[in-house]
Amino acid sequence: MTRPVRTRIAPSPTGFPHVGTAYIALFNLAFARSMGGEFILRIEDTDQVRSTAQSEEMILNALRWLGIQWSEGPDVGGQFAPYRQSERGEIYKQYAQQLLDQGHAFRCFCTPQELDVMRREQEKQGLPVRYDGRYANLSRKESDELANSGKPFVIRMRVPTEGVCVINDMLRGEISIPWETVDMQVLLKTDGLPTYHLANVVDDHLMQISHVIRGEEWINSAPKHKLLYEYFGWEMPVLCHMPLLRNPDKSKLSKRKNPTSITYYRDAGVLPQALMNYLGRMGYSLPHEQEKFSLDEMIDTFDITRVSLGGPVFDVEKLYWLNGEYLRSMSTDELKHAILAWASDDDKLTAITKAIQPRINLLSDAVNWAGFYFQNLPTVTAEDFSHKTLDQDRLLEILYLATWQLEALPSWREEYIYQTLKGLSAHFDIKLKDFMQPFFVAIAGSTSSTPVMNSMYILGADMTLARLRHACEVLGGLGKKKLKKLEEMNKTLPNFLAQA
Ligand code: GLU
Repeated sequence: MTRPVRTRIAPSPTGFPHVGTAYIALFNLAFARSMGGEFILRIEDTDQVRSTAQSEEMILNALRWLGIQWSEGPDVGGQFAPYRQSERGEIYKQYAQQLLDQGHAFRCFCTPQELDVMRREQEKQGLPVRYDGRYANLSRKESDELANSGKPFVIRMRVPTEGVCVINDMLRGEISIPWETVDMQVLLKTDGLPTYHLANVVDDHLMQISHVIRGEEWINSAPKHKLLYEYFGWEMPVLCHMPLLRNPDKSKLSKRKNPTSITYYRDAGVLPQALMNYLGRMGYSLPHEQEKFSLDEMIDTFDITRVSLGGPVFDVEKLYWLNGEYLRSMSTDELKHAILAWASDDDKLTAITKAIQPRINLLSDAVNWAGFYFQNLPTVTAEDFSHKTLDQDRLLEILYLATWQLEALPSWREEYIYQTLKGLSAHFDIKLKDFMQPFFVAIAGSTSSTPVMNSMYILGADMTLARLRHACEVLGGLGKKKLKKLEEMNKTLPNFLAQA
């Protein structure tokens, strides 16, 4: 009997809403709808350190803005609630216990130090780094005794040591992966929380997911998942690994080369329907090579087997071209409303007004003072950055370090921006005023502007970081070697937030 089609997007709320998440969500949605099925959203926040409520909210908002709708999820509920893994801890514990009791999993009592030594030994011998199974054969009695004595442990799954695992993929056919390359994966951590693998399999089963459409970076996890489905005696969903989005140079899409955040493109003035259309074209084409199509048109003609595996290139120029096509096909009135709607984010306008109020004498002055808030990337040249004391390399170092530090902030708050930049300037022993000059140019395109840290806050993280990266590019960037050294240095910087 064939199961009703149910697909899902399962984002981990550990950062900005990524265009890759929207791309995978779109294909899951199109597949489910074209088959008369359901598409749901689940939040995979098992990584308690990196997951944040702010990131979850941004991801949901960004997907909604794009017009991606789910019929079940943490915000709308549904028959398999809760849809946030952090609220399902007891369920995973119970299933981990079941695997332990059936002998498909075992307790591992290795300390982090022991694992470290194991890893270094393997590296020294040129062996692949993996768990060596040292606790796999402990008797249940010994294992219970150690656990009862309070020794911390994780639960790992057993994995065959020989033979090959064959995975069936809707696009790729059979994929063979030798078992010897598959690690004895941790399923439950010392703190009793699940890892991605356990939570993902348990939830896909309980939420009756029929098809798992996800990025190709998960192919290597598939054998572990297949084994877990076998251990539990559950039917495995059909797998489909989509090709990864790529930069024009064919490397994996990364924010170092192109903005990757959905909200950046929203703020730059891309229409949601154009971005959806563009993402739909990633590796997929409508019959007759039609370039411009709506979500409904995509759903009506959708056929997953038409997805091509050659790495789809996410090319910003092409996206902007397509967006232009959309803008030009609107009536004057529609376009006027679209521009007004885009520019009238009430909170943003209030914050901008507050920033320019001390500086304007005429209402028309607002255009000069506030213009840069509405731009995409400011038009600047390397000369605009010239500084009385800092040379080009120094400027670049500062801009790179600030970018990395700011993108690692736990949330986008004005005081955090201030503490970070103030901390960096003190660290370099550069007067704050001198230190801030390149930031004015990078963000506002000029050294005379509203207070720049406030501007960064108002512009939001995505647009700020895109402008800082753009500044680095305009300045010619740092060579590979220097960049590497700087990255090392970045790791040794103190936590500026803690110091404040
Ligand atoms: N939480 C995973 C992610 O962030 C989901 C992967 C999957 O679809 O299985 O992409």
